[in-house]
Amino acid sequence: MNIWVFSQEAGGAPTSGTLELLTKARELGTVTAFVGGDASAIAAALGEYGAAKVYATGDLGGKLPGAAVSAAMKAIIDGGETPDLILFPQTTEGRDIVARLSVKLDRTVLTNNVDIAVDGGSVSVTTPIFGGNTLVATKFSGSGPFLATFRPKSFAAEPAGGGAPAVTAAPVPELGATGAAQVTAVHVEATTGPKLDEATIVVSGGRGLGEAPKYEMVETLAKLLKGAPGASRAIVDAGWVPYSYQVGQTGKVVKPGIYIAVGISGATQHMVGMKGSKNIIAINKDKEAPIFGIADLGIVGDVHKVLPKLIEALQSRG
Ligand SMILES: Cc1cc2nc3c(=O)[nH]c(=O)nc-3n(C[C@H](O)[C@H](O)[C@H](O)COP(=O)(O)OP(=O)(O)OC[C@H]3O[C@@H](n4cnc5c(N)ncnc54)[C@H](O)[C@@H]3O)c2cc1C
Repeated sequence: MNIWVFSQEAGGAPTSGTLELLTKARELGTVTAFVGGDASAIAAALGEYGAAKVYATGDLGGKLPGAAVSAAMKAIIDGGETPDLILFPQTTEGRDIVARLSVKLDRTVLTNNVDIAVDGGSVSVTTPIFGGNTLVATKFSGSGPFLATFRPKSFAAEPAGGGAPAVTAAPVPELGATGAAQVTAVHVEATTGPKLDEATIVVSGGRGLGEAPKYEMVETLAKLLKGAPGASRAIVDAGWVPYSYQVGQTGKVVKPGIYIAVGISGATQHMVGMKGSKNIIAINKDKEAPIFGIADLGIVGDVHKVLPKLIEALQSRG
C-alpha cells in the first residue's frame, strides 16, 4: 500500500502529530512524507520515523498551505502517481488541505479518527462519537486515494532508524485568485516548561479551585514536577486560563505518564482528553466524583488543604 503522510514542521523538527502518523503508516505500507515548505531541515527525521521518500513544495513564500499543498498533491496525482491513502494530522493546516483535496479529487474524507486498519486493499478508520463513549468503524468504499485525518496522540511515535530519504520537488501550480491570501503575522504563544500535549506530567485544575488566583497552585505544582499545567473547560470558559490550556474533547488530548486532576469532576468531555494517561491521580472533595472511576490514585480532600501540603513537601526536598 502506497501511503502519503502530510508532514508538518515546527521549530526545525517534525511535529509530534507528524511523527505519530509516520510511525503508524510504516506498519501499513510504503510511506511518502509530503511537506508544504522546505524539507531540508526535517527530511532526515522524517526518514527516521518511516518515510522512504519525501515530496516538498519548497518555500511557500507566505502563502497559506491549504490551497498550495492541495494543488501540489493534485498535480502529482494527475501526473500518474496515485497513493492508496493520504493521512493528515487533525490540525488547522491538515484540515484545510484535506478539505480542498477532497473537492479536487472528488473523494470522501473521514475526519477526527483515532485508529486505522488495512486489510488487503480494504481500509477502515475508527472515530469516537458521543464524547468518546462510542467508537465507530467506517470502511472506505470505491477507489482511492482515501483521505483521513487523525487526532493527536492516536498513535505512539517511535523511530524506526531509517536513513535520510531523497527529497523530490512537488511544484505548486499557478493558483490564481485562491493563491492570493498571504500570511501576514504568526503569533506563537509564549510558554515556559514542556508543552501540554508533550509533557510527561500534566497537572490540570478545575472549578473546584474556587477562584482564578488559586490556579497559581496548579502552576506551582506543575513547575515543581517539571510538568505542564492544564485545565478543564469550566475554568477556560470562566477566563481563568487561556484556551490553549484546555484538556478534553474540544481541547487537547494528552497521554502523559502522570495526570493530576485537581478539583475536576470528570465529565465525559474532559475524560476523553486524558483517559489515555498512564497514571491518573485525582484530588476532589466529593468521593462520588466520576473522575475517581478512572483514577489510579484518588485523594478525597479539599484542594486548598491538599495542594499546599503537596507543594510544601516537594519544595522541602529541594
Ligand atoms: C460539546 C462540549 C464539549 C466540551 N468539551 C470539554 C473539554 O474539552 N474539556 C473539558 O474539561 N470540559 C468540556 N466540556 C465541559 C464538561 O462537560 C464539564 O462541564 C467540565 O469539564 C467541568 O469542569 P470541572 O470539572 O472543572 O467543573 P465541575 O464539573 O463543576 O467540577 C468541579 C469539581 O470540583 C470539586 N470541588 C469543588 N470544590 C472543591 C475543593 N475545595 N476541593 C476539592 N474538590 C473540589 C467538585 O466536587 C467537582 O467534582 C464540554 C462540554 C460540552 C457540552
